[in-house]
Formats: sequence, structure tokens, C-alpha cells
Amino acid sequence: MRIVERLADLQLPRDKTIGFVPTMGAFHKGHLELMRTSRQENEVSVVSLFVNPTQFGPNEDYQRYPRQLDRDAEMARSVGVDILFAPSAEDMYPRRTTRVVVEEVTGPWEGAHRPGHFDGVATVVAKLFHLVNPTRAYFGWKDLQQCLTIRRMVSDLNFPIDLRLIDTYREEDGLAMSSRNAYLSAEHRKIAPSLYRFLVDLSRVARANAASFDDMRDAAVSELTTLGFSVEYLEWVNLSNLEPVRDPTIESAILVAARLGQTRLIDNVRFSGDIARHHQ
Ligand code: AMP
Repeated sequence: MRIVERLADLQLPRDKTIGFVPTMGAFHKGHLELMRTSRQENEVSVVSLFVNPTQFGPNEDYQRYPRQLDRDAEMARSVGVDILFAPSAEDMYPRRTTRVVVEEVTGPWEGAHRPGHFDGVATVVAKLFHLVNPTRAYFGWKDLQQCLTIRRMVSDLNFPIDLRLIDTYREEDGLAMSSRNAYLSAEHRKIAPSLYRFLVDLSRVARANAASFDDMRDAAVSELTTLGFSVEYLEWVNLSNLEPVRDPTIESAILVAARLGQTRLIDNVRFSGDIARHHQ
């Protein structure tokens, strides 16, 4: 595996299929799953490791985001990654005069709670796509709204890239793997899996008795609050426009964002429609 730290040194073959996994590092098994899939489906696999300053808000965790290049490089090597691209912020952003703004899908939920976040994501991913020129790119459904944002950008800007969206990899107790789980205290780590348990319960309610969803959702928010979560949103939404929906026969998902102490957790479950049949 080659580690490339400068944009100018990123030379990639033109005659091979390239799989690309953009990441912010602090790898866990979810990241490795994306890398393994890339490895299986392409001749060359490239992983970027870049804690992108432009997708963090002024009061977010950019400074303290876990950085562990040596350990990450070892993990990437172990699953057969060919190139680990870990540029510096100065090299990626000599200026910040151009931004990619994806509208509509970036408006509600994460977009409302993290102003500017998806502009940062879309801009860095567009830059990385141009630098790496991949055949296929891999993203996790864990960040569902990010998947929809990148999918829209790829379509609107005609990137000739096959997007592959990968299911959420979970701890045995159901907690979605995330680099930010490292922030959780031992106490909070025990409580954290209840977020997914409520999502699963609510998805059963949504399927069986959509009319009672609102009551059950409100009850879930108060129970989560009692457990110590501060819920930012918990909503059942249509996947095509992210508007609230109460119909289990259309492609939809239940999304949640909640804080537990200093840690902000997001998760979702998808169901019904083609996406659910193929991916869950
Ligand atoms: P990050 O390093 O957090 O930006 O994540 C890099 C990629 O890994 C993104 O496409 C994420 O959606 C994906 N990812 C993060 N957590 C998981 C997980 N638990 N399962 C699958 N993919 C994930």
C-alpha cells in the first residue's frame, strides 16, 4: 500500500477500474467494510483520509476529531487498500473561493442542525472525485442524508461515477459504528445502543400501525430524554424528498440525531421499497 500525502504525488492508472472510499479516518469495521467491497469490485482501491475542516461548524469537533494515521494505515493495508491518500488541509484548500452547493436534500434534518455542513461535504467530495477519478465510489447509509446529497451531486453535475451505498455496520449491541463513539464515556457507551433499539421498535410501529407513529415517536423522545439523550430530531421521512411521511408502502426511513453528553450520534433505519429490499 502506498501512502500519498501530497496532491501532486497522486498518480493513478488510467487503464484500471478504481474504487474510492472517502473517509475522515479513525477507522472502524464500517470503514473496513466499504474498503473490502471496493477491493472486491475494482482493480485498484483508493481510500482518502482527510478531516475536512469545511464540513465542521465553528462549535463542532474539528480540533478534537480523532487522528491516528499510523493505526489507520495498518488497518487499510490489512484489507488490501492500494493507495491511502492523506492530504494536508493546506494542500487541499490553498483558497476557499469555490463551493459546491446541493439544494433540497440538504435542507432539513442534518442540514438544519449543521448549517454549511453539506456544502463542505459536497465541495470536498467533488474535489476528491476529480483528483481520484474513480470508477466506483463507496459511501455508508449510516450517513443517509450525505448519501442522498452525493447521489444528487453526481447526477446534477454528471460525474461518471457508479455510487455504491453500503449498509450500516453495527456493534453487537446494535450501536452504529462511528469514529465519534470513541468520545463516549463508559456510562454513555452503555446507554448509546438504545438509540437503535428505539429505531427498530418505531420501524415496527411504522409498518404495523402507521397512524400511531406520532404517539409512539413522542413517547420514544421522552424515554430517550429520561435516559440522558438530548434528541435533535426523530422523524419518519420519505427518501425521495426527506419530508415526513406516514406510509409504510413507500421508500422511507426513520432518522435520528441525539446528543449524549458531548457526543452527537446519528442513526437511521430504512424500509419498504426497492432500497430496503436490496440493502437491509
Ligand atoms: P467518515 O470517516 O465518518 O466520514 O465515514 C467515511 C464513510 O464511511 C462514509 O461514507 C460513512 O457513511 C461510512 N460509514 C461510517 N460509519 C459507518 C458504518 N457504521 N457502517 C458503514 N459505513 C459507515
